[in-house]
Amino acid sequence: MTNKLKYFVGNWKMFGDFSSLKIINSINKFCQTHKKTFNKKKVILCVPNTLIEFFSKKNFKHISIGAQNCHHEQNYGSYTGSVNALMLKKVGAEYIILGHSENRSDGDNNKILKKKIESALNQKLKIIFCIGETLLEKRKGKTFSVIKKQLSDSLNKSHELNKIIIAYEPIWSIGTGKIPNISYLKKIFKFIKYEFVKKYKTRKSPIMLYGGSVNASNIANFSLISNIDGFLIGAASQSSKKFIDIIKNYYK
Ligand code: PEP
Repeated sequence: MTNKLKYFVGNWKMFGDFSSLKIINSINKFCQTHKKTFNKKKVILCVPNTLIEFFSKKNFKHISIGAQNCHHEQNYGSYTGSVNALMLKKVGAEYIILGHSENRSDGDNNKILKKKIESALNQKLKIIFCIGETLLEKRKGKTFSVIKKQLSDSLNKSHELNKIIIAYEPIWSIGTGKIPNISYLKKIFKFIKYEFVKKYKTRKSPIMLYGGSVNASNIANFSLISNIDGFLIGAASQSSKKFIDIIKNYYK
């Protein structure tokens, strides 16, 4: 077991209303009660925009609140239905997921994501930047080139390295119950670190998360990979029990 800070990030997707406060309360209570039992951990919940202000005003001691996406435009403008980083910051978001495959499939490309990253950093939001390949790209042996392009096209040397968390989420794993094998993941994380270090000319590794079908039964597999700093958890984060069980089982 490691003493390094581990991240457990929930992506609630399009889920939740004011009654979901009970979920977040239970998670916060668990973190409070088990402060010392489990190793150092950081819990972040990325919730729908409609809940950010409501949750952030509760000032949870053990949970940070994040958003799931934003418009790339820094200023207000004629973008019906959109919300930018400035607006998310104003309602209390601390973190933001950018580049999620569900948004990439809705039109977010590497170039737009670069603008979103810049805009979010300008608002002092910390970014959870998602990258990952499709099943077809994996089958064609393109995983490394896809990841490399996602990183190099969207990240800029001037970005503050410590404000960007990289989440490797193979698209074929999200919501499918399939997870990559350990040796594959070890290679991917080594590669991400290599690319990052090359780009930023630093010895410091980025914070790196794995996301895709993480649950209480498979979480133990990931503790074998020292490079992983934590997890981006989708469906299982919508239940306090499932989310808490993941944390418990990781440290078992
Ligand atoms: C996600 O949507 O970021 C995700 C990891 O989903 P799931 O855990 O449900 O596969």
